Amino acid sequence: MVENIKLKCDKCSGNLSGSNNSSVFFCLSCARGCDISGKARVCYDMKFAIPEKKQDFPMEYFPFWHIKCDYIVENTSDMTKLEGEAEFYVPAFFIKNINYFGDIGLYYLQKDIKPEYGEKLDIPLFPADRGLGDALKYPYIYLMKEYSNKIGAEFLNIEVKNTGAGLILIPFYKKDHSYFDSFLFWKYPSGALI
Ligand SMILES: [Zn+2]
Repeated sequence: MVENIKLKCDKCSGNLSGSNNSSVFFCLSCARGCDISGKARVCYDMKFAIPEKKQDFPMEYFPFWHIKCDYIVENTSDMTKLEGEAEFYVPAFFIKNINYFGDIGLYYLQKDIKPEYGEKLDIPLFPADRGLGDALKYPYIYLMKEYSNKIGAEFLNIEVKNTGAGLILIPFYKKDHSYFDSFLFWKYPSGALI
């Protein structure tokens, strides 16, 4: 659960909420998310994902970064270049033992998530300890992994340019001592999400 912190929303002047380690603070009255992890504060109108099937368990929103980027992959052995664009969902929180749980954000790409802008937040929100700067490492790591198999890591030079990022709230359900997300229905012990 997030608590009130003495920061004001840039849009409605409401109090922003977050936890001690938060990188992103939320305005519950106008659904704005403010990333304070960089040099300047950057705020976003947040989007909400709506689950296909509603479950009868208490719901909590988990924040994700939705990142769109252009990339250039350079093969330094034959000097060829390849350009592309990609999008990623990166959790704005941390997951312990990510290997065990798999890469939730990548699997969301295969789902038909149609987030919409929302007006206010009336269900609990999980704190966001990961700012955009840290989330942006992820597209690079992913592309590195993908192309080092094809080209060889020693001949690989990758540039990633962020062309658009936003905050999306994905509903999770809480059941006993676990959370499960509303798109993949993967189950996480509460202690694994931080
Ligand atoms: Zn606000």
